[in-house]
Amino acid sequence: MKIGLTCFMHESNNFIKKTTPLDNFKDPSFGDFLYGDYLIDYFRGGNHELSGSIDEIERQGNTIIPKFCGIATPSGTVEKSAFDYIVNRIVDEINDDEMDGLIINLHGATVSEEYLDVDGEVLLRLRNKMGPEFPIICTLDKHANISSKMFDNADILVVFRTCPHLDTYDRGVEAAKLMDQILKKELIPAGTFIAPPMMINMTKQNTFEEPVSKIIEDMDYLSNDTSVVTASFALGFPFADVPELGASFLVYTNNNLELSREKCEWVSTRAWENRKEYNLDAYEVEEAVKIANESEAFPVILNDVGDNTGGGSSADSTFLLHEIVKQNVENYCTVFFDPESASKCIDSGIGSTLTLNIGGKVDDQHGSPVKLEGKVINITDGKWEDTEIRHGGYTKYNQGNTVLFETKDRGSIILTTLRQPPQSIGQITHIGIDPSKKKLITTRGVILPRPAYDPFAAKTMLVNTKGTTTADLKNLTFNNIKRDLYPLQNPIFKPGFNEV
Ligand SMILES: [Zn+2]
Repeated sequence: MKIGLTCFMHESNNFIKKTTPLDNFKDPSFGDFLYGDYLIDYFRGGNHELSGSIDEIERQGNTIIPKFCGIATPSGTVEKSAFDYIVNRIVDEINDDEMDGLIINLHGATVSEEYLDVDGEVLLRLRNKMGPEFPIICTLDKHANISSKMFDNADILVVFRTCPHLDTYDRGVEAAKLMDQILKKELIPAGTFIAPPMMINMTKQNTFEEPVSKIIEDMDYLSNDTSVVTASFALGFPFADVPELGASFLVYTNNNLELSREKCEWVSTRAWENRKEYNLDAYEVEEAVKIANESEAFPVILNDVGDNTGGGSSADSTFLLHEIVKQNVENYCTVFFDPESASKCIDSGIGSTLTLNIGGKVDDQHGSPVKLEGKVINITDGKWEDTEIRHGGYTKYNQGNTVLFETKDRGSIILTTLRQPPQSIGQITHIGIDPSKKKLITTRGVILPRPAYDPFAAKTMLVNTKGTTTADLKNLTFNNIKRDLYPLQNPIFKPGFNEV
């Protein structure tokens, strides 16, 4: 049998004013979209869901039909022209004379200038073209805001199980196994989708910690139930201002709709009952820097929640650095996306001393630049590989030409020319930083940095900074949510009636 693989992934943060153009979906090292054999070469041996699907389809003896792959670093709303190009290309390339089924990797929180539910629209167009009999399995990020449109237009939706996303490979394998069973006529998926009207705050989305770990235990219980084919739980992405924003649950059985409904009602109701536990929990900026500065054990790692690069933010927020300078912290390390400052350093060369206005340039939501004098210690091309299992399953990293700039207080400021979320410690080690020797390290994320940074940390603290990924919902104005949603309102939950 022949199984098509295609991928369109973007986490769209509608609170960012800058939109996301088509070029952002090209692989920066390759300079084009990953496609065909390039897609297989790029992902083979990695930890991405495509890596898992490639291995599993080959193991089955089925044939891979590799198609378009567009992945962009999380950022603002996708431009209409980018959406049109990508969706037209995906739909044009999928034909039933060439393949028997399709595995598509979508994110689930993609928003374009035209469509609030891009993922649902992609699946609808594929379904309209291919008809109801053609098997489509869609994998989704744990942060998906799942809609009925997405659920209705795929045979099965498979969501990552963990946040940080460490099981991406396994979900790719799972999708390929389920596809094989459908193609062999061993499986007729019957699924139920339930979206309780609740949000899980970003600071509470770590699936390895309570309270969400309790939902994961319930999901594991379902997954071990032999009558359940696959069960998923999506956290939701609070920075996509869309009607379907929120947590959701999916349970599939083999041709037993009533059973899937029963199981899905059970797990979603138990999660809903604990909804008060999923609210904001983070330190304030001044308090966090003070605790880090006074700590005997080091490094203390401060996760900048409001500038969560993996959630689309600017990667140049200065709220924490201003406070670090104000409190005279010595021997810290922080990373800034700041091409302007990096170029000045590259022009001046290693060993030169200069004064820079660092950060706060991408927009007006992440603080003012910090003026600091320092020395250029090192310059790299900003590329490295990290074969450990990291958030999202990526192994190849590229943050563009990168500079290590050091202040007289041994503040190590790493200046990058591409925005790179901090899922690999290579971001700082590849340029010569030993994290274990630093007193304070900041990262721009909430949960994403933890597998890479926590092994070095004496303590990791979430900091309630302002910014386009603020976890403090009072800083955000939602315009597109059409239903009452906890904790914004106090809705009632009736399984089967809150779907969006
Ligand atoms: Zn995610």
